[in-house]
Amino acid sequence: MNDISSPRATEIAAALGAVGERLNRACLAAGRDPADVQLLPVTKFFPASDVAILYGLGCREFGESREQEASAKVAELAALTAADPSAVRWHMIGSVQRNKARSIAQWAYAIHSVDSPRLIDALAKAATAAMAEGGREQPLRVLLQVSLDGDPLRGGVPRDELAELADHAEAAAGIELSGLMAVPPLGSDPERAFAALHSAHMDLLRSHPAAKTLSAGMTDDLEVAVRYGSTCVRVGTALLGSRPITSN
Ligand SMILES: *Cc1c(COP(=O)(O)O)cnc(C)c1O
Repeated sequence: MNDISSPRATEIAAALGAVGERLNRACLAAGRDPADVQLLPVTKFFPASDVAILYGLGCREFGESREQEASAKVAELAALTAADPSAVRWHMIGSVQRNKARSIAQWAYAIHSVDSPRLIDALAKAATAAMAEGGREQPLRVLLQVSLDGDPLRGGVPRDELAELADHAEAAAGIELSGLMAVPPLGSDPERAFAALHSAHMDLLRSHPAAKTLSAGMTDDLEVAVRYGSTCVRVGTALLGSRPITSN
């Protein structure tokens, strides 16, 4: 399954190299150390065999946005990653319902899309239970998703509620507040969106200095995100190709 000489593997290897160079150039242009910005391959909608190819190329962290698809893929890849399971880190980057917290706590290293106290409580309880049962070793890393347009339907917490939510996360057991995430609103100017996100992150760091991660930037806007302090770009399309239009 992880034959790295197949046509698909050749294609993915070239794309990974190109995205890596793009990210390096973006860092240099922004006067930043490339080592400070993680490339998180987003594998949603693509088969476990593509994840296996990325693994064969050295990738160890992956982003997924739908719980069922992710947990199935994690199980499919268990044999491949068994040699060193703790080296692989799965990130949940899509919006989640509270009733998925138990499952997420079983497979996710981090979740980037946390936007309510009730979701924090559910994740804290689930991660605490998973640690007690031996299903996970470390607290679940939590990133708060910031809404940059105030539209509650698109997920994310409005900026003026961020401090309170961060305090809530900091106080919860089983999870660790590690930063912020955002997706610029459709049709918005990424420059303005990431500038707002960056300033929200600066505010947060004053009260929560450990919340260092800024998850921002995707295929179309990673350069702008890097200029505004991103420490983790989530890239799907540029690595694996386009997804069906129903994707989210
Ligand atoms: C799908 C997805 C991505 C990847 O987007 P691309 O434009 O394909 O790089 C990044 N972040 C989130 C939250 C996503 O759902």
